[in-house]
Amino acid sequence: MSEVVLASGNPGKLAEFRALLAERGLQVLPVRQFADASPEETGASFQANALIKARHAASASGRAALADDSGLEVDFLDGAPGVHSARFAGPNAEDADNNALLLRRLAGVPEGLRGARFRCVLVYLRSPEDADPLICEGVWPGRILEQPRGDGGFGYDPLFLVPELDCSAAQLSAAQKNVLSHRGQALRALLARLGGE
Ligand code: IMP
Repeated sequence: MSEVVLASGNPGKLAEFRALLAERGLQVLPVRQFADASPEETGASFQANALIKARHAASASGRAALADDSGLEVDFLDGAPGVHSARFAGPNAEDADNNALLLRRLAGVPEGLRGARFRCVLVYLRSPEDADPLICEGVWPGRILEQPRGDGGFGYDPLFLVPELDCSAAQLSAAQKNVLSHRGQALRALLARLGGE
């Protein structure tokens, strides 16, 4: 089985990627097995940050590497929090702080102006020297609610309305979310590209 190093320490993501990539004969190893520190995510875009993480994982391990970067873009905030989604409310912000700040920034903004989307970029490097990585993106459009709904998921899920189902992302099962989500879409696009190689 070929190996691919995942540039994330998040156990949830590791399990998700492991299950899906095993079907393609790829064994996923966590980057922590090869490097203690993570690189600084200094990029101005999801793609730039995913490339930084994938290059770091590939060079630390000498193997193929996969990295993802994702976040929420809110139209009324000109695309913020974007690449700063995890730390919107400050360097040590937790999900509840970020969600509270988002609600404050959108206070009084009518429904029609509360459009938003989750975006995920995945970068796959076949080797540390790969000059032409596979780059796949997934976008999940929705709207920011006026108050949280549901207690599943993570991050901004309780405030993210899925208009076609009239529920928040935090009210979906993990399997339902995976069908619709930015990460699910990006991963399926990557699997299709890998299948064609
Ligand atoms: P990362 O790509 O795991 O670093 O995610 C960056 C940040 O974007 C997270 O900390 C969340 O705040 C937000 N985010 C990304 N994907 C999701 C999602 O599926 N639901 C809710 N929030 C998300």
